[in-house]
Amino acid sequence: MTAFVIDAFQFSRLQEQAEGELQVVQLTRLAGETVDRAGTLHWSLKGGVDKLGHPQLLLAISGRVNLVCQRCMAPMPFDIASESVLVLAKDDDAADAIEELLDDEAIDVIIGEPEFDVIYLVEDEALLALPVAPKHDVCPGKAVEPLVVADKVSPFAVLKNLKQ
Ligand SMILES: [Zn+2]
Repeated sequence: MTAFVIDAFQFSRLQEQAEGELQVVQLTRLAGETVDRAGTLHWSLKGGVDKLGHPQLLLAISGRVNLVCQRCMAPMPFDIASESVLVLAKDDDAADAIEELLDDEAIDVIIGEPEFDVIYLVEDEALLALPVAPKHDVCPGKAVEPLVVADKVSPFAVLKNLKQ
């Protein structure tokens, strides 16, 4: 199990930055959602403060994973591209208070810890970025069917032309 541990509050206060790459196969929970455990996630994390002075982390992740289409059950590549604003709170009570104060659903308030596992956070965000029921825009099976029908029809069309 890979881990990349930071002190979340210090990381924010010092406005530190970090980035890295993770193989999907290293992320057990994410890998379980994919058809082949293949792919690479790129992540970057930036510490800072929000406009009210709360410590915050900006997390961006990107990468491609292969999910299963819920309509045709065939593999479906999906591009994860997510950017999150995570405001840090000391505990649950503080988190509730900050959430109420910000009143912004685009911002997540999380409990910051002195031993904060970035890899776990990246995996959480990747899981949140996945569609609940992934589906191809056009399933590959559906696109092939009309061609098969056309092939079956054409010999009769040829015979018909011969008769005339
Ligand atoms: Zn499909």
